[in-house]
Amino acid sequence: MTKRTVALVGIGKIARDQHVPAISASPDWELAATVSRNGKVEGVAGYLSIEEMLEAHPEVDVISLCLPPVPRFQAAATALRASRHVMLEKPPGATVAECHALHTLAQDAGVSIFATWHSREASQVANAKAWLAGRQIRSLQIIWKEDVRRWHPGQDWIWQAGGLGVFDPGINALSILTEILNVPVRISSAELYFPENCETPIAANLEFGGIVDADINADFDFRQQGDQTWAIEIATDDGEMVLSEGGAKLSINGNEQTGNEDENTLTGEYPRLYARMHELVSNGGSDFDLAPMVLTADAFLLGRRVVVDPFHE
Ligand code: NAP
Repeated sequence: MTKRTVALVGIGKIARDQHVPAISASPDWELAATVSRNGKVEGVAGYLSIEEMLEAHPEVDVISLCLPPVPRFQAAATALRASRHVMLEKPPGATVAECHALHTLAQDAGVSIFATWHSREASQVANAKAWLAGRQIRSLQIIWKEDVRRWHPGQDWIWQAGGLGVFDPGINALSILTEILNVPVRISSAELYFPENCETPIAANLEFGGIVDADINADFDFRQQGDQTWAIEIATDDGEMVLSEGGAKLSINGNEQTGNEDENTLTGEYPRLYARMHELVSNGGSDFDLAPMVLTADAFLLGRRVVVDPFHE
């Protein structure tokens, strides 16, 4: 396989936790440069601006953007205008329109664009999808509850407009939902709980309906203490399944499924995302599914706003 070069933009939590290790462990990728105001990767050329990096590294094939959603658009547009392939952390943008704009820019430049949804790569998601195919869903409950202080310390952007609040993890659940269902869903009602001192919600209850004749709802909460829950519980006309631990664990009719991945596939969400990006660039393709983003935007469009206690980290 042709080795490709990548530059990482935004050296923060996810870049350090997942992107750098996935790239370093892959024989197909080389980390050629980084762009960050404060972060660096040892042994890799670092730049303060994307323009400077693009000029210094005409050989870099792919720009992988690990910034929060609001500042990401300008960087992505700059990379695409410089005819580089682009890989976007989730969510692919702060607004639906800017996602479409990025897709158009990629098409005009003749480069690949990949809107990644890392949770879709969790080890049991494909098995859950396969089990559900051909079964009729009677009810589906998403329970996505985590302690924001534990998982997002110091991330002020999450509480600012465009930062999504509890939808930052919640969109991962929606990415799995839209991957495993064999029918489209729409949000029929939503309640969003905004701390009185924050611009984004700390919790949300969503109901889905209209297209499927099933009881589907979601409960997102950033105030969870103790056990953390990232689960989807589904009852069908032919048994029940629980996909838990963010898609890493699958139980069918109470029996935990152990056989999972095809031996030939890579283990780990981010190694798989980079393998997919390599494939897209090699084949001249793009992967740009906005379904989780549309449901999230619709929750904000339709959601009833409820003001709750202020949040202080
Ligand atoms: P982060 O650590 O708070 O931010 C990433 C980097 O972006 C920062 O280190 C900072 O680098 C830069 N940045 C932050 N705010 C900025 C701003 N307003 N303008 C310009 N640059 C800014 O965030 P993260 O947790 O890595 O998340 C980044 C993206 O990855 C988000 O979309 C998130 O949903 C997604 N993600 C995160 C996780 C996770 O576990 N944290 C998991 C999966 C996906 P400099 O200050 O050095 O420029």
